[in-house]
Order: sequence, then C-alpha cells, then structure tokens
Amino acid sequence: MPYEQYETVIGLEVHVQLATHSKAFCGDDASFGGEPNTHISTISLGHPGTLPRLNKQQIEFAVRLGFALNSDINLISTFDRKNYFYADLPKGYQITQDKNPICIGGWLEISDENKLKKIRIHHVHMEEDAGKSMHDADPKDSLIDLNRAGVPLLEIVTEPDLRSADEVDAFMTAMRQLVRYLGISDGNMEEGSMRCDCNVSVRKKGETKLNNRCEIKNVNSMRFARRAIEYEVKRQIDIMEMGGMVEQQTLNFDPETGVTAPLRSKEDAQDYRYFPEPDLPPVIITPAYLENVKLNLVSLPWALRERLINEFSLPEYDINLLTEEKTTALFFLEFAKYDTNYKAISNLIINKILPWCQDQKLEIGKFPVGFKQLAAFIKLIDEGKVSNSNAYQRIFPQLTEQPERSPLEIAQALNLIQTSDEDFLEKIVDEVLAKNPTKVIEYQKGKKGLLGFFVGEVMRQSKGKAEPKMTNALLIKKLGN
Ligand code: ADP
Ligand code: MG
Repeated sequence: MPYEQYETVIGLEVHVQLATHSKAFCGDDASFGGEPNTHISTISLGHPGTLPRLNKQQIEFAVRLGFALNSDINLISTFDRKNYFYADLPKGYQITQDKNPICIGGWLEISDENKLKKIRIHHVHMEEDAGKSMHDADPKDSLIDLNRAGVPLLEIVTEPDLRSADEVDAFMTAMRQLVRYLGISDGNMEEGSMRCDCNVSVRKKGETKLNNRCEIKNVNSMRFARRAIEYEVKRQIDIMEMGGMVEQQTLNFDPETGVTAPLRSKEDAQDYRYFPEPDLPPVIITPAYLENVKLNLVSLPWALRERLINEFSLPEYDINLLTEEKTTALFFLEFAKYDTNYKAISNLIINKILPWCQDQKLEIGKFPVGFKQLAAFIKLIDEGKVSNSNAYQRIFPQLTEQPERSPLEIAQALNLIQTSDEDFLEKIVDEVLAKNPTKVIEYQKGKKGLLGFFVGEVMRQSKGKAEPKMTNALLIKKLGN
C-alpha cells in the first residue's frame, strides 16, 4: 500500500476580503456586487497621474487579526508593487506588502476530531484585489468587471503545518469564524470574500525534508479544496512511486473534470519585479494605537468557548453550535442571566430560535421575544405545566407571533396545561390498558420497555396534557411489579 507510506504537507495562502466601506486606496464603494463597472473611479481604473491614499480602516482590521492570531505587529510596514500584465489589473501592478508585511508569525488553533493543533502563521500582509474577467458571459468577447479592483484584502500565509484535507477544512472554518467575530469580513466563500491557494507536497512518513510543492490557485469552496487536494496527493505519490520527481508548479483545479492542470511551471515562473511603492509612505503604528485597538477587541471565539465550557457545563455539540456566530453566543450569555437551566436554554436556541431566525432571514439579536418571556417559556416546561413537545410545537410559534403575550396565557388559551388530576389520568390509563391487553401481558412477562409505549398512548389520548411523572407512576402501579 504505497499511499499509506506517505504524509501530506500543506501550506495555505488565504485571501480575506475586508468589510470596509471604501476601497483600499480610494473612496470607491467596496461592497460586493453592484452593476458591473459602477464602483470605479480614475484611481481604481489606474489612470495616469492618479495617486493612491491608504484606507485607515484596513490597518485597524489587519491589526485586529494580528492580535487574534498572536502575531507580532510590525510598527513600520511598507507597500510594494507586484507587476504583471492581465486584463483585470488596470494599473499593470498590484499594490501589496512584500518586504515588510504588517503582521509576522503567530498561530491559529484548529480542532480536528477534537484534537487541538496549532497551525503556525508565517505572516499576514495587506494588498488589493483585482477585477473580475468573465469568459463565458458573452459568446465572442471576454468581459471585465472592475468593481472588485482595489478592494482591500488580507493575505494570511501559513507555515506548511497542515497534514490533510480535513485539517484544511478545520483551518478555513476557524478562520471564517474568526474574521466574522472580529467584524473584519463576512468570510463568505461563495461570494469570494474568502479564498485560498493550497500548496501541496508529499513525503515519506518520518522524513523531515520538504519536497517540491504544487500550488493550487484560487480555491473558493471547501468541497473543491478537498477534491483538489485528494487528487493532487494521489498524483504526486504516483509520480514518486514511479521514481519521478514532482515538478514545482502552479495548478488550476477544474471542478467539472476533478483534475488539476498546470497554469505555469517554475521554468517560466513569473518575475513580478517587486519594488517599493513610491506613492505610499510607510505605515507607522504607534504603541498607543495598538493599545487602543486591543482595548476595543471584541470577544474571540475561543474566549467565549472557554466561558461556555467553564460556567455552563454544556456538551461539546451545543458549544460548537452556540459559538459558531458571535451573535448566537452573546444571545446565549444574555439569556442565561434569566434562567439557570442552561441546557434547556441551549436546546431552545439550537432547536427553535436559530432555525426560526434562519427561516425569517433575521439575525438572532433581532429575535422578537424578550428574555423574560423566553425564561417563562422554559419554566412552563420545567414546572411540568406543559409538555416539552406542546411547548415547542404549539406555544413557541404563537409566542413569536405575539411576543408580548405570556407563555402561560398562551398555554391556557390553547388548553395545553398538563394535569396531575388523578381521576382524569386514571381514566385515561385504564382506557389505554384496556385497549392493549396483549401488550399488558407482554409487559407483565418482562418486556419492561413497553412502559414507554403506554406513556406515549396516555400522552396521545390526553393531547399532551398528562403530567409525565404522575402518568409513569400510575401506569407502573396498575401494571403491577
Ligand atoms: P512563495 O509562494 O512566495 O514562494 P513560500 O514558498 O514561502 O512563498 O510559501 C508559500 C506557501 O507555501 C506557504 O503557505 C508555505 O507554507 C507553503 N509551502 C512552502 N513549501 C511547501 C512544501 N514543500 N509543501 C507544502 N507547502 C509548502
Ligand atoms: Mg505564493
């Protein structure tokens, strides 16, 4: 089994589009979409004589990310020109940071099957995006949309620390969560706000030397990343098993064919003729500025995670869902001030509130029902006044429509209050037992699991109004032993 003898080595270059209002070096609208070629000006079109001016917000976003990744923030960083010729790059060069990027080093922790691993960051630099060429939109011509030209990006370059497509998935997921928490990007891969280049090589297990790598360009979905990496790993191992050497090259992954193909190889590797950008002064950051950004740093995913683990002892599954978005975690923390049944709160958020908000395309922070009412809703169940299923299926929908009404009032109006009235229950229990004589005998012969069936029947006949503890006790008494 030759494949088993190899180890996969992956380093990522992740591009994150920043959620600034304007572009990196001019005042053009930086938002996604828009009619083609409407978010443009002489500066993003690269007209001669125009000058770039740096967007302050971009610096703050970079510093925020740097803090979250435990990077060293470079107090003096500089911009360079990366020269190449392409239709979607009207200036003929991209402004980027080559020599002195804004953040150096650091790490991001990922969890793959609950194993934690630190992926080291090589550096983070600022740059601008290019426009978009569309080759299939018109039968004859290639079309060009320059709305994206000049939108600010951060490029996060990792060390080659990733060992599988699963780890790449975990890394991209953690990075997306982080940039959303930080409020610096929507992290939306479908809209291209986050994309990555995957550098892949293989080596025999136990070897420490790195072999030649291939760089798969512009991967914009996790599914493609996985397929591209799997294809590439197999291709490289096959070459090595045949005694060959992997050629260092840049590849494109075609999702239609599932195959990677060379864009260019090292021999004709592009010479970008980097040189310092003469039109932009160095970015100088003062320690006071850093302190200020640090003070305003919002909760980070792992900090909220720690809190949920330590203060509320919730299961891993719940914590993952509650911390996926910052707004959800904050909603939980606020809710938890109103009731101490944390698991019930978590269940309600995960099973009802989140799906409802998704359905209504509403952010959870805008959920119409107040925490007092929600806590009263949980109390109704906890005090045995309403069955869990009636509360979830009948009271919850009404509550969202009439958020000011008390859950108890709704329960009464819908006639859902559970009863522990012994006469009422006994009558139903007797009916259920009379209707199922064979099951009663089976139970009495030892098939004790049937108790659940009887309870279910009593619930059904009482339309969910039978109080479960009392029902159980009555049934056991009547069935004997
Ligand atoms: P450049 O693309 O500018 O030449 P580097 O070679 O330093 O930059 O690395 C770019 C990316 O490729 C980084 O994410 C790095 O971790 C990764 N990388 C470098 N060498 C290898 C290798 N042999 N196998 C896998 N990934 C690699
Ligand atoms: Mg590269």
